Amino acid sequence: MNIKSTNMKKIMEKYTTIHALGMSTGLGLWDMRVNMLKDASEDRGKMRSIITGLYQDMMLNKEFLDLINVAEKEDLTLYEKAIIRSLKRETKFYLAIPPDVLKEYIKLTTVAYNEWVKARAKSDFSIFEPYLGKIAEFSRKFAELLRYENEPYDAMLDRYEEGILARDFDEMFTGIKKKIVPVFKKLADDRSHALENEPYNEERLKDFIIYVVRKFGYNFNRGRLDKTTHPFTMSIGMNDVRITTRYEGGKDFRMPLLGSIHEFGHAIYDMQIDPSLNWTPLASGSITYSLGIHESQSRFWENMVGRSREFIEAFHDVLIAFMPNIAMYGTEEIYRYFNIVRPNYIRVEADELCYPMHILLRYELERDMMNEKINISELPQVWNEKMENYMGIIPPDDARGCLQDPHWSRMFGYFPTYAMGTILAAQIKRKLENEIGPLGEFIRAKNFGPVTNWQKENIHKYSSLYTPKELVKTALGEPMNVEYFAKHVKKYVELWS
Ligand SMILES: [Zn+2]
Repeated sequence: MNIKSTNMKKIMEKYTTIHALGMSTGLGLWDMRVNMLKDASEDRGKMRSIITGLYQDMMLNKEFLDLINVAEKEDLTLYEKAIIRSLKRETKFYLAIPPDVLKEYIKLTTVAYNEWVKARAKSDFSIFEPYLGKIAEFSRKFAELLRYENEPYDAMLDRYEEGILARDFDEMFTGIKKKIVPVFKKLADDRSHALENEPYNEERLKDFIIYVVRKFGYNFNRGRLDKTTHPFTMSIGMNDVRITTRYEGGKDFRMPLLGSIHEFGHAIYDMQIDPSLNWTPLASGSITYSLGIHESQSRFWENMVGRSREFIEAFHDVLIAFMPNIAMYGTEEIYRYFNIVRPNYIRVEADELCYPMHILLRYELERDMMNEKINISELPQVWNEKMENYMGIIPPDDARGCLQDPHWSRMFGYFPTYAMGTILAAQIKRKLENEIGPLGEFIRAKNFGPVTNWQKENIHKYSSLYTPKELVKTALGEPMNVEYFAKHVKKYVELWS
């Protein structure tokens, strides 16, 4: 994709430095989550807030803003228009939020994250409560400054999902309540599987995970796999896309494996963005502007590939070579172990069917916290009530309840995109199969090239060239639809009823 306009060329020249600062922020965040020393958090917070300040200064440079405003009126290509749209969206945030407020917020999130870690370790909500209160205040302040359509929460949602409002999400969650909740309630049972108690050797499992993601197409010259508390993927440019996983407890290998496959799904997206978008605002836009579509890629690999019968059959030999202690379990047993349906306290450990209940709960709670419908101090209690309502269980402590996720140490508005990803993954599978044939056959043959290639051509290469709604329509030919996921979950009815 070429730049024709002279003003656009000037914009891109200036943007290169801004992009480098963005990359260094990403690298700092990765290091904070993977390597940071216990006593370094205060200095690191200061460092991050200074770099963010520099980034903001450059974004708001008058000459830069003037260039954007002039170029916007020119006759631009689709690509140039998307760059302007992306920059306007980014500058909108920095123009709306005064530098002092932003600096204070960045410092707060660094401390809040560490307080969350402490609170979770001690299962003591009172440690995190004052920081959560401040995050809620900041979210309301941001919403007022950014302006919103119908309710303050819309402004927060837009940060993660460009142009998608609470009313769009309401439609999706209504679909989930009508079509998925009843299936979950019917099938949910306190099941367990002997494999959940089988120990694993961390190094051997890591080797197996590396084998799997490499087969899928993960390039270790452009990526790496590390250990962390809360798994994530970090792009430091499209040629350095790092994934992380957690090994907790030394047994139940399903979680680190499927978690890593999930992160692979995120990583392959960023690795397959059109190289001509590198060093442009569109290179990292897929994360900034549509977390839901990004999550659809991770959910696709985790649920449609990783939890499939074909995956277990195709990788069984290698799995047993790495973990000889599970050799007595056949593929059908492992398939059942990968697809247990039961109420689960922990979102990241929840099965595919239980997962949307977790998001529904967080969606309602963060909306209520933002709208001051609940007091922050009541959170543990309201959390537990909703948990009982949707899943029929009450967490034994807050570490397994409202303290389980780090998200609220940063901001509100992020969670609904997870459900969007889960719903879209099923819809994407259907479309892909219509065009290139049954996914199961590619998995059986360990021939993942055609699958990643379809994803590249239909989704990944565009990055944020289109808005999320446009991209869904372009790639899938229709808007998001819960119906495909409702059909997909019939596999659980067959397995467990
Ligand atoms: Zn994810």
